[in-house]
Amino acid sequence: MNIILASSEVHPYSKTGGLADMVGAISKTLAERGHDVSVVTPLYRGVLRRYPRTRPYGLRFDIELGDSIERAEVFSLELNHNSRILFVAHDGFFDRNGLYQDAEQGTDYPDNAQRYLFFSKCVVEICGKLPNKPDVVHLHDWQTGFVPLFLMAKYAGNNRPGTVMTIHNLAYQGNFAPDTMPFLNLPYRFFNPEGIEFYGNISFLKTGLVYADLITTVSPTYAREITTPEFGCSLDGVLRKRRQSLTGILNGVDYSEWNTTHNPVLPQAFNFKNLQGKKQAKLKMQRELGMAESANTPVFGNIGRLAYQKGIDILLRVLPDFLEQDFQFVCLGAGSHEIEKALTELKTRFPRQIGILFGFYPDMAHLIEAGCDFYIMPSRYEPCGLNQMFSLRYGTIPIVHAVGGLEDSVVDYRESLVRANGIKFRAYSAETLAVAIREALELYGSPYLMRYFQRNAMTADFSWHAAAAEYEKVYVRCIELLKSGT
Ligand code: ADP
Repeated sequence: MNIILASSEVHPYSKTGGLADMVGAISKTLAERGHDVSVVTPLYRGVLRRYPRTRPYGLRFDIELGDSIERAEVFSLELNHNSRILFVAHDGFFDRNGLYQDAEQGTDYPDNAQRYLFFSKCVVEICGKLPNKPDVVHLHDWQTGFVPLFLMAKYAGNNRPGTVMTIHNLAYQGNFAPDTMPFLNLPYRFFNPEGIEFYGNISFLKTGLVYADLITTVSPTYAREITTPEFGCSLDGVLRKRRQSLTGILNGVDYSEWNTTHNPVLPQAFNFKNLQGKKQAKLKMQRELGMAESANTPVFGNIGRLAYQKGIDILLRVLPDFLEQDFQFVCLGAGSHEIEKALTELKTRFPRQIGILFGFYPDMAHLIEAGCDFYIMPSRYEPCGLNQMFSLRYGTIPIVHAVGGLEDSVVDYRESLVRANGIKFRAYSAETLAVAIREALELYGSPYLMRYFQRNAMTADFSWHAAAAEYEKVYVRCIELLKSGT
């Protein structure tokens, strides 16, 4: 198949979260499986310098954006004979110090709607200009939500590529005031509740969910959850209507990057038969984060956006009690200043037991995954989550709230003693999290059981080929839908 993936971030060129990991890995895996794959993404600041093999693709065109005409130029980085990254360049929109926010001010760019409408129009333009006519365009998150509608507007009937819209996080919807309408250059009739309108605004994500041929999200449990009012972020009605077109496919892990045996960041390789290198990673992590170096103290870790979704607030409520004993906690993250402040205060109280680092440090993420004994993910909701799967491979036992992809990737001993590799809590509260941490400490106190969990964790397989095979099925279904004219 000829496949285009369009995303506002792609690892390793740009990344703020799991979306980038997913698009980078699935595109690579689809190409390995023989498909022709083009990934379309904005040319952000620094990419040309960091990837000097990137060349002009010989494609320039004008895009109508409201009353103005904006010029786009396409650059390409050829990865293989059948795969490439196509970067859309527009200095005014993308040569900035952050992806969605001003890095210094920490606020969203006021023209994000225009920036990603421009990008989406470029995706449509590129679809028509590639030498290999695309069969399917696979879109990711609100930034590309308008592509299905723009494609329908441009091509009559079903003479267009199929469209698949993947939801990575339903809470990020790209809702903008109705005065965004002129930038669509579409008739006003689309602004209605059956179309792009959403509680008086224009919703980019909803538009994608209404007009894409098929919808996927990043775990089977999240696919079910988002059709309910509790997790549906007010889009559950739209999703219930499209339930027959919605599939949940668990993300995978790129083990060529996330592994403990060929990893330049780790002080010593390790595997489930020999965990000596894990101990070395623990000592190195404790040293680098200014903590007491102690191989026997249980260390609990967390990496990620410091946001309400991730539940660090309930973790902060229970940590002080545990820190009264032999217990350490490590956190790498960026986001809410309030959470940063609370963590800093905790570090002042327990300086040698707490390790914190604010900012985005991929190498440190590997060291923490390897150096911790347990990884805590108290997310209120979690579409897929990657860190629990990284933890499993690094022999770090995940403690998770049983939602979304956390439910689908971690096995609690109450579900299967034979396959147990983590600890789950179901009711969401600080108290139930504390119970789960106490269970973890008990596990830590029985080395035989701990090794048993670690063995199960490290041998669990979440490689991308299984997910890619599922996406292939979705693409085939999409092409068949178009052919049958439904
Ligand atoms: P999200 O909801 O942010 O997408 P995921 O668990 O799906 O959460 O993916 C987060 C990805 O970003 C993982 O690869 C994780 O290691 C990485 N990450 C998050 N925060 C940081 C950070 N501060 N430094 C380094 N890597 C980070």
